[in-house]
Amino acid sequence: MKRSQSNPKVDSSDGRPASEPPLSEEYTERCVSCQQSIRAKLLKRHRCTACRRLQAVSKSDAHMARILGEFPRLDHWPRWFMAETDELYIFRAQSFLRALILVVDKVELAVLHLATGSRFAFQLATVAPDQWDGFLR
Ligand SMILES: [Zn+2]
Repeated sequence: MKRSQSNPKVDSSDGRPASEPPLSEEYTERCVSCQQSIRAKLLKRHRCTACRRLQAVSKSDAHMARILGEFPRLDHWPRWFMAETDELYIFRAQSFLRALILVVDKVELAVLHLATGSRFAFQLATVAPDQWDGFLR
């Protein structure tokens, strides 16, 4: 399992004291949508709770205003959905045929994951960090 450098959450799969429960009890998998490592038993159809609960959000929403202020290139996406966890926001943008997923941390809006592809794809293609600005700024 690769740990994202930009993700402040540290999983406990290494450097763990012997007193902690066995790995099988906290086995994690990546959500196909936001790519965050989640305890496998919380995933349903490979999606985390937050990604299953994305809600439509308008561009006038305060969260959207903050995102579009930081990432102006996203403004052309007509439809938006969002969800949040304790640490991050998950945004899904949609057009007629395309979709984009943006995962950012709540405090600094640091990008943790960006993916795009067909709106109908089960899993969008991850965008490499050196390509992020072309989509965002
Ligand atoms: Zn997810």
